[in-house]
Amino acid sequence: MPGGTPGTPSSKVKEKSMIRPKVVVALYPFKAVEGGDLSLEKGAEYEVLDDSQDHWWKVKDEQGSIGYIPSNYVKEKELLGLQKYEWYVGDMSRQRAESLLKQEDKEGCFVVRNSSTKGLYTLSLYTKVPHPHVKHYHIKQNSRGEFFLSEKHCCGSIPDLVNYHRHNSGGLASRLKTSPCDRPVPATAGLSHDKWEIDPQELMLLEELGSGQFGVVRRGKWRGSIDVAVKMMKEGTMSEDDFIEEAKVMTKLQHQNLVQLYGVCSKHRPIYIVTEYMRHGSLLNYLRRHEATLGVNVGMLLDMCIQICKGMAYLERHNYIHRDLAARNCLVGSENVVKVADFGLARYVLDDQYTSSGGTKFPIKWAPPEVLNYTRFSSKSDVWAYGVLMWEVFTCGKMPYGRLKNAEVVERVQRGIILERPKACFKEVYEVMRKCWSHSPEDRPSFRSLKEQLLNVSEGLLAD
Ligand code: AMP
Repeated sequence: MPGGTPGTPSSKVKEKSMIRPKVVVALYPFKAVEGGDLSLEKGAEYEVLDDSQDHWWKVKDEQGSIGYIPSNYVKEKELLGLQKYEWYVGDMSRQRAESLLKQEDKEGCFVVRNSSTKGLYTLSLYTKVPHPHVKHYHIKQNSRGEFFLSEKHCCGSIPDLVNYHRHNSGGLASRLKTSPCDRPVPATAGLSHDKWEIDPQELMLLEELGSGQFGVVRRGKWRGSIDVAVKMMKEGTMSEDDFIEEAKVMTKLQHQNLVQLYGVCSKHRPIYIVTEYMRHGSLLNYLRRHEATLGVNVGMLLDMCIQICKGMAYLERHNYIHRDLAARNCLVGSENVVKVADFGLARYVLDDQYTSSGGTKFPIKWAPPEVLNYTRFSSKSDVWAYGVLMWEVFTCGKMPYGRLKNAEVVERVQRGIILERPKACFKEVYEVMRKCWSHSPEDRPSFRSLKEQLLNVSEGLLAD
C-alpha cells in the first residue's frame, strides 16, 4: 500500500500531518494563577491540543508553552468573523447598547451589533448634538452584496464600511471615533481547570453585600485579583455534604445569564459558596431603586426579562430545575446584565418553613397549583415563577398579590385568578405572562419557546 499500512510509524506521521490543528484566537485576556493553566493574550493565537472537556481546553501558545484555558475566552480562528474587532458586540440588545454608549459619554462612540432581524447588523452611535442620544442605523446591502449606511458610500465588507465612516460622517450624526473599551470579561467555569475546592487562605474578605436565607454574603478577592462574592452558610441551614457533591456539577453550568458558581470552601465551618460578583446586587432592589428611570423604559424592562429567559432556557436544556426563581434571586451586573442566581439551592435547605408548601418562608406567590397541591417541581413550575418574575420586573419590584395573605393567594391561584396587567406592560407582554400561568403545566410554554416569543415581541415593539 503506497505510504505504508495503517498503524505503521510512517502512516501515523502522515495521518497526523494531514489533520489540520484547530487554532483559536483569544477574545479576552486571561491570567493563569494555578499551575497547569496558561495565560491568554487578547488577539493571540493558540493551537488546541485537547477540547474533550466543555469548559477548559488544553492549548499551546506561540512560544510552545502548554496549559489549560477557559474555552469561553477563545473563538476558533476560522469562525472569528467580526469578533476580532473591538467595536463588534454580537448579540447585545438595543437597550444595552444605548446604556453602554451613554455611560461612555463620548462623541462618535459606536458599536456594531446583531440586529433584532437575524443576519442583519445595526450600527449604534452616540452623539451629543443637539443633545446626548444614541442613533441606530441598519447596515444595508445592495444587489451587488456591498454594505452601506447611506447608498452613496458602499463597501465590500463591514470593517471597510466602518473604516470609511471613521474618516467621513457620510450622512451619520457623527464620524465613527471610538468604541467602548474595557468591556467586562466573562466568568470562567470554576477558577481554574478542574478546581471547585477553594482554599480560604486565598480569599480576601471585604465588605458585606447583604444577607439572606443562608447567612451573610461578602465581597471578596481571590488571589488578590479576581472579584468574587462569598456566601457564608449559616450552620444548620443546609444539608452540607449533599450540597458539596452537587457543587461539582453546578460549577460546570455556564451561561452569560447565570451567576457562575466558582467553587466552595468545604473543609471548614461555616462553608463558603464562592460565586461571580455582581456589582449592582439583587434585581429586586435594583428595580425598586431605579423605578423612576426604569419604569419609563419598557425596552430595558423587556430586555431584562429576555436575559433571564435565556439563562432559564439553558437550565431547562440541562434538565436543571431552579425551584425558587424570583426577582430577589436574580442579580444585576455592569451594562445592565441580569443573571439568575441560587439555582437548585432550595433542595439543600433544611428549614421546614422554607421547604414545605405550608411553611411561612415558602415562596407561595411564585408557586403554581401543582407545587401548592403536590410539591411537584419541574421546568414548567419554573415557567410559572418566571411569569410572576416578569410581573415583578414590569411593576419595578412590587410585591405580587400585594398584602394578600398566603392562604388567600392559594385560594385565588386554585380558582384561576391571575395577577393583573402592570401599567407599564404592553398587551403583548402580558399575553406572554398569562401563558406562563396556564393552570396545567403541560399548557405552559417551554423557556425556549418563551425566549422566541419575547424576542418577537421586542422586535415588534422596538423596531430599530
Ligand atoms: P442571598 O443570600 O443570595 O439572598 O444574598 C443576599 C444579598 O447579598 C442579595 O440580596 C444581594 O444584595 C447580595 N448578593 C448575593 N450574592 C451576590 C453576588 N454574587 N454579587 C453581589 N451581591 C450579592
